[in-house]
Order: sequence, then C-alpha cells, then structure tokens
Amino acid sequence: MTGMVTEIQRFALNDGPGIRTTVFLKGCDMHCAWCHNPETINAGRELHYYADQCIGCFKCVSACPSKAHKRIDGVHRFYRNLCIQCGQCAQVCYAGAMVMSGEEMTIAQIMKQIIQDKPYYDDSLGGVTISGGETLCQLDFALELTKACQAENIRVGVETNLNRPLAVARVLLGQVDLIMCDFKLFDSQAHRHWTGIGNETIKENLQRLDELGIPYIVRTPVVPGVTDSDENIAAISGFLKHCKRMRYYELLNYNPLGAPKYQSLSRLDPFKGAKPLPKARMRELASIAARAGIPIRIDD
Ligand code: SF4
Ligand code: SF4
Repeated sequence: MTGMVTEIQRFALNDGPGIRTTVFLKGCDMHCAWCHNPETINAGRELHYYADQCIGCFKCVSACPSKAHKRIDGVHRFYRNLCIQCGQCAQVCYAGAMVMSGEEMTIAQIMKQIIQDKPYYDDSLGGVTISGGETLCQLDFALELTKACQAENIRVGVETNLNRPLAVARVLLGQVDLIMCDFKLFDSQAHRHWTGIGNETIKENLQRLDELGIPYIVRTPVVPGVTDSDENIAAISGFLKHCKRMRYYELLNYNPLGAPKYQSLSRLDPFKGAKPLPKARMRELASIAARAGIPIRIDD
C-alpha cells in the first residue's frame, strides 16, 4: 500500500505533545481560503516554482520532457501550462527553485524515517502526528501507518477536519492516542462560504466524539475577518461545553507563512498581506471562550 505524502517533518513541536514526526498527507475535501499549506489540498502531485531561487544553471531545460523550461536570451523561463508533473526538473534543480510536492510512499519508507527519532518520542512523551491535507481522505493508509507506529510502541495523533461521518472515521479515530480537530466557523453558511463545505457533520461528530474514549483537542484557526469575531468564538466554545474528553479548546493565531507557496504554485492568495492578530486581541478572544467554562489555550 502507498500513500501520497507531501512532507515528513521531524522534530515538530507544534503538532501535539512532546517531540514529534509529522507526516503530511496530500488531498483535502475542504478548500479553506486561508490555508497555509495550499500544496496539500489537491490529491495529485504539484510543482512549485520559486523564481527567486533560480541560479540560471538550465539543468531543467535538458531534463524536461515537455519543454516547459526554456532558455530565452540567457534567462530561465518556466511555462506551467506545458508541465506534466513528471518531477524530472525538481530532481536536477539543486538551487531549490523547482520543488515537487507529493510522493507515493510505502509504510516501510515512512517508518524508516519515523523510527530514527524513537528515543526523542519516548523521552518527551511525543510521537507521530498524521496530518494533511485531510488525514481522513487517505483513511486506509493512515490506519496502516497508525498500526505500524503502534507496533513499535510509538504514540499516534491525528489532525482532522472531522468532516466524515463518525461511522466511517471511527476505524481510525478510535484507534489513535490523540485527536486534534478543527472547528472553524459556527455558522454553517459562513463555513460553506470560506471552506467549500457546511459544518453539519463536524457538529454531529463533536457531539459524539466522547463515545470513542480517546482524548481530543479542538482548535479554531483565528483568521482576520473570517473566524475572529466575538460571536463565532462564543458560539463554538458554548457548543463545546458538553465535550467531556476534550483536553482543551485552542485558538491558533493566523499563520501567514503560506503566502510564498501560493505564488510558487501560480495560485491567487486571497489573504495576501493579512497579518496575525495582535496578542491582546487573541487574549480577548480567549477570555470570551473561557466564559463557557472550558479549558482554553492560545497559540499567538
Ligand atoms: S534547474 Fe533550477 S536553478 Fe537551474 S535554471 Fe532550472 S529552475 Fe533555475
Ligand atoms: S515536472 Fe516534468 S514536465 Fe513539469 S516542468 Fe518539471 S520536468 Fe517538465
């Protein structure tokens, strides 16, 4: 069995407790307008072009079977419309201007990397986080990876948008050690507007997540002008009051690091120039959430 992976990030400190290795799977059923990992949304491979990294070596020109790279007046030009995503140019571009996102990997290939840091997981109570994209879009693969980790006594957490019926998702979510899920917008129409999908399944799952007996964390990415209203945070935190196994509700400040990726993929960035919220505003939102009597954290 293989899975489509965009990145394996070792020594990750922000994807769950302790020191972790995060495996990012490709493909997502939502299209959040502010996504800071836009390369993980589509299920297939995608080529990034970082023009400012190009050193004009022209190795890509001879490597490309479809003539998508050209040397014109001594300058490198890239024609994305001709690209067939074969990845040859990324293999010869040592300057890092051409980077391919998405690699078919076996469980054994991934485990070879994961196992190297086992002593760090053990010492820090960390482990592996399966993320995306959306983990549940590669459910069978994520389940096999979870089993392989647990066979090595490595704890597994998953990040998920929770947008699959629990009857389908529980085969994985009921097996892991920690679930980290998003609840972005309380109003379903607004949720659909900004992510492409309504939030009915998410709400239903959150009402039943305690059934699984697995601890979970619920998070809201605080996006300027989208999820950052008092009303949204108050409504979500009020909804979470009954969640007995929830460790805490976390507010994650807007992450602007995705901006160069939009450019490298030749995509429009709807949040170009947007900035994280001031710390004082994050604290204000946290105090609104705290009125629901649930444990709160902020990552500002
Ligand atoms: S291989 Fe990379 S650095 Fe060399 S010309 Fe092509 S894009 Fe530029
Ligand atoms: S991925 Fe393949 S087809 Fe696309 S530009 Fe690179 S070498 Fe050419």
